[in-house]
Amino acid sequence: MLSDTIAAIATPPGRSAIALIRISGRGAHELAASVLNPFRAEPYRSARLARVYHPQGGEVLDEVLYVVYSQPHSYTGEDLVEVTTHGGLLIPAEVLGAVLAAGARQAAPGEFTRRALLNGKMDLLQAEAVGDLTDATAPAQRRAEEDSGPIPPEQVDAAIETVRLRLTNLLGTAADGERLRDGAIAVIAGCPNVGKSSLFNALLGRERAIVTERPGTTRDAIEAAASCGGFPFRLIDTAGLRDSEDTVERIGIEFSHRYLAAADLVLFCLEAGRWLSSEESEFLAALTAPVVLVRTKADLGKPLAVPLRGERVVTVSAETGAGLAELRGVLAEVGFSKLAGQGEVEPLITRERHRAALRRALEEVEAFAAARKAGLEGAVAATHLRSAVSALEDVIGLVTTEDVLDRVFARFCVGK
Ligand code: GDP
Repeated sequence: MLSDTIAAIATPPGRSAIALIRISGRGAHELAASVLNPFRAEPYRSARLARVYHPQGGEVLDEVLYVVYSQPHSYTGEDLVEVTTHGGLLIPAEVLGAVLAAGARQAAPGEFTRRALLNGKMDLLQAEAVGDLTDATAPAQRRAEEDSGPIPPEQVDAAIETVRLRLTNLLGTAADGERLRDGAIAVIAGCPNVGKSSLFNALLGRERAIVTERPGTTRDAIEAAASCGGFPFRLIDTAGLRDSEDTVERIGIEFSHRYLAAADLVLFCLEAGRWLSSEESEFLAALTAPVVLVRTKADLGKPLAVPLRGERVVTVSAETGAGLAELRGVLAEVGFSKLAGQGEVEPLITRERHRAALRRALEEVEAFAAARKAGLEGAVAATHLRSAVSALEDVIGLVTTEDVLDRVFARFCVGK
């Protein structure tokens, strides 16, 4: 399978005695003939001396050795010419410039090896090994990859572990991710008249207009969307529903039953200067969601009481606006603990469908590991890997052979 003629410097740039330029493709021999003089294609695979001339200007650029290969007996399986020039930065670049001026196309990273693969000169594992070899720094690593025999079991184990860890980490972002999409549920609770509705309105600010009553079975709360520290929240208040039977008279604390179980955090309001009553302490102790203790009506100037439990405490005044900015910041930290602190956000799962697919992929990877441990034949165990890939396809779309090739060749240097 011959294709257009590509060229690149195959050796690393910088100080060196010599450099190698590869020209491969249908017209490689003719193209070499147009810049090398004297040029002879045959006998193949023998080194000959020539000068490089610029095809347009005609000036002599270097004195070189060149070797001509004929398809399919070459690295790429195509007609190929390798030109060994003097080293350094300038001369190889000039010679490559002449080759490109003669009509070759600058090769993409890994394109030579990709052609070798497509022409059946090597399989994908060998191609990857070439990539590793190119990057190899330690002699031990070179030895490990030169042998294209079976992949050592430790390497498979390590790969499984890496995949398992990445899937687990990704799944760990699901809670924050889904909250990021839907808003963290923040339930405002506290005794009557502590300032819950005022706080609700103050936090909504200008977004007050979008307050909506959720159509539902029990009208025990009002929900409104608010942004705190750049993160989305669903503020839940019993505001205006004083007469609702759902208000828990027994303990005298107003909160939304319906939302409490799903709460990502609870804003518990307590007037500044007051201590928690035993009912309030009991209520707080029974909560599973993180609590932010909000001391309200700070402008009334009462002395501040010491918090009794380990909650985050913020003192605010809905009247003057004092402390509201701090409260927004604390809400962001508590509601989006994983995200609020980090500048660069990792990929996040934001959909239940993705979460389910990743969980399935993780299960299959673990099943593969278990099957290997149980000594199952590789081909049988690999069915789990295929299922894992198919689960991932549900998230990112079809994983084609072409995608795998792109991934493999993306990390190649030009000239390989
Ligand atoms: P809720 O019953 O907990 O929802 O409390 P409200 O928000 O209805 O407030 C009860 C009373 O406290 C009202 O008269 C409010 O005007 C007053 N109030 C609320 N927040 C503040 C505040 O920050 N400063 C002052 N001075 N009064 C407030």
